[in-house]
Amino acid sequence: MKILVCISHVPDTTSKIDFVDDREFDTSGISFVINPYDEFGLTKSVFIKENNGANITVLCVGDSSCESSLRKALAIGADEAVRIDHIPKDSLNIAKLIYDYIKDKEYDLIITGRESIDYNSGVVPGLISKMLNIPFVNACIGLDIKDNVVHLKREIDGGIEVLESNFPILIAGQKGLVEEKDLKIPSMRGIMMARKKTLSVVKPENDLQSSLKLNKYEKPIVKASCKMVDSNNIEELVELLHREAKVI
Ligand SMILES: Cc1cc2nc3c(=O)[nH]c(=O)nc-3n(C[C@H](O)[C@H](O)[C@H](O)COP(=O)(O)OP(=O)(O)OC[C@H]3O[C@@H](n4cnc5c(N)ncnc54)[C@H](O)[C@@H]3O)c2cc1C
Repeated sequence: MKILVCISHVPDTTSKIDFVDDREFDTSGISFVINPYDEFGLTKSVFIKENNGANITVLCVGDSSCESSLRKALAIGADEAVRIDHIPKDSLNIAKLIYDYIKDKEYDLIITGRESIDYNSGVVPGLISKMLNIPFVNACIGLDIKDNVVHLKREIDGGIEVLESNFPILIAGQKGLVEEKDLKIPSMRGIMMARKKTLSVVKPENDLQSSLKLNKYEKPIVKASCKMVDSNNIEELVELLHREAKVI
């Protein structure tokens, strides 16, 4: 079985977000990690490889900085890595670049995350599945393969949808696909083996332009600090709600 795991390379969740001239994300001092939703998919792919046998390719659209995430994925158990050399600035372009690279490669299972925690569009997987014209299950929380049939569970409002499909299929995973406690981390042996695995760099065929123009980023309004009022001082509370909070 051929599995493709798409990985986005994102700022660590504890990062302090800032912008240069309100137009560009300031990456200074930021450490980048594998998108957490993609980690669930990557671990699942390694379990499938262990149980059913599979060849796992990990792919990231990005500049050379994303190679640290690809190397980590190789250390966790992927067999080969591909970096499509393009600075991602538009979700549709990312999907097109991934499609252009994989369209003739006949992957049985394509795994992405439900969303990338940097720009949170949650559209790349749906776009790829449409371009490939293959089934797509979003927010996937369970995947089992029996007799060449894929049994899937998807989170829906207040319940779980149980589905099945033939290959090829694209799923967008999240927590539940594997549990957090089961997430694979690189072992020393894995890190050593990863050094010998192939990481290919692919140049995009076309110079893609974005039809979206970024005007600026705005940070959320800083919340005012909480003002404590003595529980016996109702007059001050009413005055503050009227004069400062302007809610009464
Ligand atoms: C105006 C604008 C400016 C931007 N500028 C930058 C920038 O300077 N630098 C930058 O890094 N990003 C930039 N981005 C973000 C970038 O375009 C993508 O949006 C982002 O990398 C993926 O986020 P998403 O929300 O589109 O993906 P989603 O659709 O939320 O991602 C879902 C899944 O798709 C897969 N996926 C997503 N992105 C990739 C990828 N790059 N490679 C492989 N698989 C992927 C992953 O499996 C992920 O879990 C910009 C976006 C916008 C809108």
